[in-house]
Amino acid sequence: MNSDFAVLMVLLLTLTISACQTTHQSAKLSQPTLTVPDDRLDPSPDFEEIVIPIRVHILCSAESKHLNFTCTDAEITAWFEQANTIWRTAAIHWDIESFVYEEPNNPADFDQIVELGRDADPEERRSIVHSTYPLDQKLTPGWNIFFINRMAFGNGVYSAKNGSILIGENGPDSELNPSILAHELGHSLGLRHTPERYNLMAKRQPGIDPKDKIRLNLEQIERARTIATSGNPFPGRDNESRILSDAREMDCWENPRTDYAQEAF
Ligand SMILES: [Zn+2]
Repeated sequence: MNSDFAVLMVLLLTLTISACQTTHQSAKLSQPTLTVPDDRLDPSPDFEEIVIPIRVHILCSAESKHLNFTCTDAEITAWFEQANTIWRTAAIHWDIESFVYEEPNNPADFDQIVELGRDADPEERRSIVHSTYPLDQKLTPGWNIFFINRMAFGNGVYSAKNGSILIGENGPDSELNPSILAHELGHSLGLRHTPERYNLMAKRQPGIDPKDKIRLNLEQIERARTIATSGNPFPGRDNESRILSDAREMDCWENPRTDYAQEAF
């Protein structure tokens, strides 16, 4: 009897742990449509490949449907593979170090912020969003990315203060695509927004499909490689005089299909 009970408990525990990993099989990923000339996707032979380990944190919440991530590990892996095709031009390769499954903080507050949408107070939204992801299992030093179901605003955000990326499988009116992931990774490598057409770090551009924004120029490549080599994500400053402007710019909210990105703080 005791033996049966023990088996039952182990089974229940296993089911609980795996529930977060097997919830949904829906394929939300979209392939990058490389309709622009892809000559810049070939890395310079002068560049030695830099491999960046990144820890993937999956937030699971029974209390908040917005924070509860529903895609699979395989889908995340595929998404990174696609982002790597973009980052290949800089000879930078993102390597998933591990998957970690965590409970988010403040689920009720987060849901309220999502429901408020554009009516939410920007400072309150920022504070709540960045309080939701736990920091105690971070890869340190190193890169960390947190996946949730739906961002409160836009599709993703890089916090220079926390050195972490937060990204949603769903945006307010769009599904995730690899260029959004690659773009946020770019912020973590110190890249700012640029008006350059088809550039990975461009904000929304009329007439250009967000998935086609994949280019990096040489200046960006060199800057990204410098940060990558440092072993830590961009801390929000190059020197003391640029702390505020850089930190605020990196703390942006992405949604290429709307003008939300124009409201980056
Ligand atoms: Zn951005």
